[in-house]
Amino acid sequence: MCRHLGWLGADVTVSSLVLEPRYGLRVQSYAPRRQKNGLMNADGWGVGFFDGAPDPAVPRRWRSAAPLWGDVSFESVAPALRSHCVVAAVRSATVGMPIEASATAPFTDGRWLLSHNGVVDRAVLPPTPAESACDSALLAATIFARGLDALGETIAEIGAADPAARLNVLAADGSRLLATTWNETLSILRRDDGVVLASEPYDDDGAWEDVPDHHLVEVTSERVTFTALDNPKGS
Ligand code: GLN
Repeated sequence: MCRHLGWLGADVTVSSLVLEPRYGLRVQSYAPRRQKNGLMNADGWGVGFFDGAPDPAVPRRWRSAAPLWGDVSFESVAPALRSHCVVAAVRSATVGMPIEASATAPFTDGRWLLSHNGVVDRAVLPPTPAESACDSALLAATIFARGLDALGETIAEIGAADPAARLNVLAADGSRLLATTWNETLSILRRDDGVVLASEPYDDDGAWEDVPDHHLVEVTSERVTFTALDNPKGS
């Protein structure tokens, strides 16, 4: 994925996060402002969220291999989808990766939603069953197998094994948002009703802050925590 967004807070509509903001993911699908790798994100989109029914711990997902900007069904339904915890993404496929809905974030293990903005050499990942041969799907399967509590260590290890990797991951389980910065951009917006983590700001609100590179961010209803990750390049 080349641009992703996570929300933890009050119940809001999916459209208020993804479609309505002036520079939200819909606009980022054709005109991202801060993307360093790739020009646009036309290779699919995905939205996952927790809505409490029938099992509050099990997320719902809606993914497509078509561009977000032209999806009139999503545009029609998104204002009716409400959630306190959302992971959404638009994709710019890395050269050589399949373009299919199953290669599109968010990935899930049935409890966590996970998006990857970046690229990783699949040869450094352990052989793990994944829903697509895409690097991001394999990375997600590796992270799920190791457990999200080890996310920071897993990313630092993979980053050491593949110095060219870009490993911005965003994950949520309904009560926590976790994100890493590893050679891609990430911003945070602390609103009165919740917290947004996004690859780039979705509007010009002066309250957006840049998350420093090579960090782990954890958001709960109580606090936001930043932890520096071991970085072999030392930057
Ligand atoms: N490598 C991933 C893919 O091909 C993510 C790409 C990206 O972040 N631009 O889907």
